[in-house]
Amino acid sequence: MNKSVTDWIRPEIQQLSAYHVPDPGDAIKLDAMENPYRWDATLVEEWLNVLRTAALNRYPDPAARELKQQLRAVMQVPDTMDMILGNGSDELIQMLALTLNGQGRILLAPEPSFVMYRLIAQVVGMQYIGVPLQANDFGLDMFAMLEAIETHQPALVFLAYPNNPTGNAFDMIDIEAIIETTPGLVVIDEAYAPFANNTLMSRLGEYPNLLVMRTVSKLGLAGLRLGLLAGPHKWLEQIEKTRLPYNINVLTQLSAVFALQHYAVLDKQTDQIRADRAELLEGLNAINGVQAWTSQANFILFRVADAQAIFNGLKENGILIKNLHGSHSLLNNCLRVTVGTPEENRAFLQALTQICL
Ligand SMILES: *Cc1c(COP(=O)(O)O)cnc(C)c1O
Repeated sequence: MNKSVTDWIRPEIQQLSAYHVPDPGDAIKLDAMENPYRWDATLVEEWLNVLRTAALNRYPDPAARELKQQLRAVMQVPDTMDMILGNGSDELIQMLALTLNGQGRILLAPEPSFVMYRLIAQVVGMQYIGVPLQANDFGLDMFAMLEAIETHQPALVFLAYPNNPTGNAFDMIDIEAIIETTPGLVVIDEAYAPFANNTLMSRLGEYPNLLVMRTVSKLGLAGLRLGLLAGPHKWLEQIEKTRLPYNINVLTQLSAVFALQHYAVLDKQTDQIRADRAELLEGLNAINGVQAWTSQANFILFRVADAQAIFNGLKENGILIKNLHGSHSLLNNCLRVTVGTPEENRAFLQALTQICL
């Protein structure tokens, strides 16, 4: 006699919803922190010439040596630190959780923050603790953080720096106190480093329990799925054991090496995005009934009177952003817009102004 699905699937999995991504259709896509710029025709030609050399019949280099060397140079990973690559930093979060998982083990993060920390903790069976940020400016509530760390003795703490979806970068002095107090690993998730003013990459080694995570996704290569984890050998040699051998495919390795050889192109694009972010913020705050927060990332969080109505109105105007209302109590009537091209930003502001009238 067969048992049913619900007899076999762990209750934690049954309670989850699969990560949902809406179909954008041909909307202006300002929902996922993608770089809006593509490469010019010459660069695409050069890239295709590189891809022609790909040996699709062979497994990729499991150590991705050339790519790691490139990433080390571009992201300024200290020579003394090890690196692990992931199929996006999402996969690195999963490897970290798999490595540190165990009976009663805790994964802790401030919230609202990146939803994958909680989702992955639940999937691997770790207990997740979310500590609310401060309501006014989304800074760390240090009293609550240190108390939660003291109480729960987390194996793993994630700090997104800058934070998604709020866009702010936490105070360095608070981050240092958290690293010092945490008995387990502290991972600084620097997905938005290309748009931020500060990094902890150069401080690896200063603390025995500090790791830094980066991704090329927000830099302009979201389609490749490539993230990196940097830190002391003692930790990374253990985490490496949970990595599936050929997780970075041939096309990603070749394409990323090529793209990083042309880093200046990406760098120019992120410069442009940073400049346009300032204009977008100004435009948002000029609209009646909109409160927008400053950001060190490539998106802006803002609050309106009725987020669902604004979200729907924008969608009817062919513009897709992210509605955060209902995702966390601190995000009531909040929306998140990714910085697009100047034309896209103008279209967004124009539509929003119309809807807010
Ligand atoms: C987007 C994002 C990631 C995911 O990066 P991928 O490399 O595309 O998996 C990780 N952390 C934060 C905070 C993000 O916003």
